[in-house]
This record gives sequence, C-alpha cells and structure tokens, in this order.
Amino acid sequence: MMEDERANGYQLPQELITLRDQVRRIIRDEVIPAESRVDPDAAEIPEDNYWRIAKKVQAAGMWCMGSPRQYGGGGLGTFEMCVLMEEMCQHRMGLYNPGAGVFGRNPPPVIWAGTEEQIRKYAVSTLENATYTFFAITEPSGGSDPAGAIQCRAVRDGDHYVLNGTKIFTSHAHEGEWGVVFARTDPTAGRAGVTAFIIERGTPGFTARPFQVIRTAALPNIVHLEDCRIPVAQRLGPEGGGLSLCMDLLTGLRFPYSACNIGVGVAALRIAID
Ligand SMILES: Cc1cc2nc3c(=O)[nH]c(=O)nc-3n(C[C@H](O)[C@H](O)[C@H](O)COP(=O)(O)OP(=O)(O)OC[C@H]3O[C@@H](n4cnc5c(N)ncnc54)[C@H](O)[C@@H]3O)c2cc1C
Repeated sequence: MMEDERANGYQLPQELITLRDQVRRIIRDEVIPAESRVDPDAAEIPEDNYWRIAKKVQAAGMWCMGSPRQYGGGGLGTFEMCVLMEEMCQHRMGLYNPGAGVFGRNPPPVIWAGTEEQIRKYAVSTLENATYTFFAITEPSGGSDPAGAIQCRAVRDGDHYVLNGTKIFTSHAHEGEWGVVFARTDPTAGRAGVTAFIIERGTPGFTARPFQVIRTAALPNIVHLEDCRIPVAQRLGPEGGGLSLCMDLLTGLRFPYSACNIGVGVAALRIAID
C-alpha cells in the first residue's frame, strides 16, 4: 500500500491493490520492453508480441476487465477501472492506447444496452478477437454539448434508417469492425431526438479518413455518412433514446480516461526524477 493512501484515511480494497500491482508488473515487465523495440511514435506494438502478452493477461483473468462478466469481461465498475487505468497508461503510447491494448479492447459501453442478439453478434466477438470498434458523437459543430451539436440525420425508410452527415475526431473508425453512431431522428425533439445506431465496416455510404492532429500516431477520423442505409435491427435502444444512452454509459469512459491523464503525470514525474 502507498503511504498517501494511508494518510488520506482511505484504503483501497486489498483485492484491487493486488490487481493494480499485477497491472503495474505487466506494464513494467511486458509492455515497456515490447514498446521500446518499436518506433517512438508507434501507436501499437507488433501483432505477434501483442498476442503473446495478451494470452498471459487472459490466463491471469485480467481480460476486458471493464466489460460485463457474463460476456467474457471482468465485470469491474468505473471506480475500479480508474484505479487500474492510472497504472495501465504509464508507458510511452499509454495515454491513447493504455497497456498497448493487451488487457483487451472493450467495445463502446453503449452496446451493453443492446438486445441479447446485438450483444452476441457485436460485443462478444469484439471481446474474443480484440478487434477495434468506434463511437461517433462529435461533429464539426462541436463535441462538448452533443445535445445541441448533433446534426447528422437519420430518416426512417421502411425497415431501414438512412443516415447523412459528418462526424469528426472518431478514433479507430477506419479500422473498426463496427461502431456506434449518434444521429438525429427528430430535429424538433431536442435531447429526445437523438438515436444510436450500430454501423458495420463496409456499409455503403460510410467512409472514414484519418486526419493529422498534434500527435503523430493513432490519428482520429473524419467520417462521412452519405445515404448510409442501416437496418432497424441495428438501432441501439429506442428511437430518441440515444443521448441518454450516451450519458449513462459512454460518460463512464471519461472517468478512467481522466485517471489515465493522472497516470501520465505520475510517469512523467518519475522520468524527470530519474
Ligand atoms: C485525439 C482525439 C480523439 C477523439 N476521439 C473521439 C471519438 O472516438 N469519438 C467522438 O465522438 N469524439 C472523439 N473526440 C472528440 C472529443 O470528444 C471532443 O473534442 C470533445 O468532446 C470536445 O469537443 P470539441 O473539440 O468540438 O470542442 P467544443 O465543443 O467546440 O468546445 C471548445 C471549447 O469550448 C468549451 N465549451 C464548449 N461548450 C461550452 C459551454 N457551454 N460553456 C463553457 N465552455 C464551453 C469547451 O470546454 C472547450 O474548451 C476525440 C478528440 C480527440 C482530440
């Protein structure tokens, strides 16, 4: 246990301390050595190294710890993930690819609000195969306030929705097997006018193009939706329920992401002292 935890009068549960120490060991003994052999700007470690470490993580029962247990994840909550992510990101590519992905690639949590069929078809295969997925909320009109900013339109046409619009800053959209896109089904309904849809890779009318940002690797995408036809069966949750799904489930990712930033600060301080 660290001194500061005792001083604050708060103690992490022993099980979580053990898990955190285990994450720390894997980062130190496996991820950092693998990462040190690739280009300093690389966003990933090579596939063979990835799976060599990932198999050990799976055997240790530490795979996709933030996803539900009944579908192959670890069933941990947001608090536990904050503690672990603070450790997981303490390496060179850690902020945008914590643990170089060797702890599994959790799908966007909104998928857990889907039907059993949607969860089996999309989420379970992502958990098993560690494929990339994406979520597209942000648009050129803004990202901080999706309720006001989302202009992408989804219009019902029989047993499909037709999506049109542009998303920006969508991470992994060019390589994701599937993703969740938020679009406006009712422009007059405000917060209740946004719906979530699952989009599969290769759907006609869907294009994703990485664009340069300040960092050199793991570039986000501009996504264009042009008369992109999505079956009603790929609507996630009820029509008009997209924004509350987004708030309930997706914002849970923001807390562990913030913990990652603290972890990067901790690592930076350690490097500076060294
Ligand atoms: C590398 C990277 C990857 C990303 N990946 C994804 C992704 O996978 N999917 C996705 O959907 N998005 C993604 N984003 C987008 C990210 O979520 C947005 O950048 C973020 O939500 C902020 O939106 P914005 O950039 O449009 O800024 P804006 O919403 O335009 O805000 C600009 C500034 O104004 C402030 N501001 C905005 N509204 C208010 C207000 N009402 N009151 C006071 N201040 C306000 C903000 O705090 C901010 O400082 C990514 C961004 C980056 C940089």
